[in-house]
Parts: sequence; C-alpha cells; structure tokens
Amino acid sequence: MLNFRNTLITGSVALAALVITDIFITVDLWFYLGIVLALIVLLIWGSIRIQAGFYLPSLCSGKRNNKAVSLTFDDGPDGLITPMILDILREKKVKATFFIVGSKAEKHPEILQRIDREGHIIGGHSLSHHFFFDLFSGKHMKSELMQTADIVFKATGKKIVLFRPPYGVTNPTLGKVLKTLNYRSIGWSLKSKDTVLKDNELLLKRLKSKLHAGDIILFHDNKPWIVNLLKAFITYLDEENYSIERIDDLLNIKVYDAQ
Ligand SMILES: [Zn+2]
Repeated sequence: MLNFRNTLITGSVALAALVITDIFITVDLWFYLGIVLALIVLLIWGSIRIQAGFYLPSLCSGKRNNKAVSLTFDDGPDGLITPMILDILREKKVKATFFIVGSKAEKHPEILQRIDREGHIIGGHSLSHHFFFDLFSGKHMKSELMQTADIVFKATGKKIVLFRPPYGVTNPTLGKVLKTLNYRSIGWSLKSKDTVLKDNELLLKRLKSKLHAGDIILFHDNKPWIVNLLKAFITYLDEENYSIERIDDLLNIKVYDAQ
C-alpha cells in the first residue's frame, strides 16, 4: 500500500542498498539523486492528494454501487451566501454538510444554529484557513481545531468530530492531531471547481460528466455563483434518480461526539 510509512521504508532500503553497492562498485550520483527526487515527488503528491490516504485516512466517497451522493460546503459561513444556500436546501428538502471556518463562524452563530436546526451537519475546517495551515506545529493545529469546536459547541451544543483539511492538504502532523482529538478526516471524490470557474453552465456540465454513485461533492458556500449552480445540480440529480444523503448516512459514521 502506497503510504507515508511504506514510502519511507522503501526509500531508506533503496538508499541503503545503493550505499552497500557503492562499497563494491562505484554507483553514479544520479542514482542517489533519482531516489531522493522520487521520494520528494511522492511526499508532495501524498500531501496534496487527500484521496490517496497517504499520511492519514480520509473518507472520500460512499459505496459506488448505491446511487446516492452527498453535498458538502467549505469555507463558510458567509453572511450572505450561506443563508441563500440554506434556502435552496430547504426548498429542495436536501440535507448537506458544512465544513466551517471557525473565525467566520464566530461572527455568525445564528447561521450555525440555522444549519443545525434545519438538519444539516457541521464539521470543522480550521479556525483561520491559513494558507500555510499544513506547516503549523501540532500544538497550533490542535488549538485551531479545539477553538473551532468550541465555537460550534457554544452555538449549537454539538461536539464536532468531522474535519476537512484546508485545501485538502494532509501531513503527518495533522494525522497525529486528528488522532489525538479522535476526529475523522473527510475528503471528497468530486470537486465542483467553483473556486476557479464562475461560468455556471460550464460548472454544471463538468459536474454532470464526472458524477458517479457514492460521490462526496465539494462546493464552497462563499461563492455567489454557486447559488444557481446548486439549484440546477439538485434538479439534475433528481432527474437522474440520485438520492442526496447526509454524510452520516452515506458513510455510516457518527458526526458528533456524544453529549
Ligand atoms: Zn477551504
């Protein structure tokens, strides 16, 4: 299995084998560089590809033989967009998951309460969503996660245990922190690309072409153009007989710690 531990072991064994060989026959420096370069590429790939489960396990999709999907929203709550998203979800009778940023949530406890009251799930997405979150120390990461959990608890009385890593970036430090807090990492299998594209038709076409049963779909509830996209996409899912399930039903997991 391609993961951090196995990669380090394999890389170390390969380098040791080269050193031993070098005693008997001169090994070209390029062989050493090649192994080191391959290791660096793998470590970076593992870090940015949450689906690989390279540094820590992340749940990224449900059963592929069940025509159900789950909708998730990152980077909110946004004072303007999140309520619009909630209106659509209510109108369409759909439940979703919101991976909230603690510093934003602190300013909008009423939105957290509405998310919870209307039957959606709340998970954490760090306190700061700092661009270099993955370079923070374990202590700093843990503090961000605990402060975010506290904000959710104060607003809703719910103890969150789901976490979506900012930018989907994982590393060994985050792995240890999530383990200590008994959190579960949730990734995605279908990215809407709503952070890079604004053209609704293009976004919808892309989603339709890449959609599979069991998908966990990633949206961002701070982008105005996803309001119409979401409406159209839910209509499409209905037409195609997909059921839209809450993440706990899709993955059969618990989403909050016992009260
Ligand atoms: Zn994010």
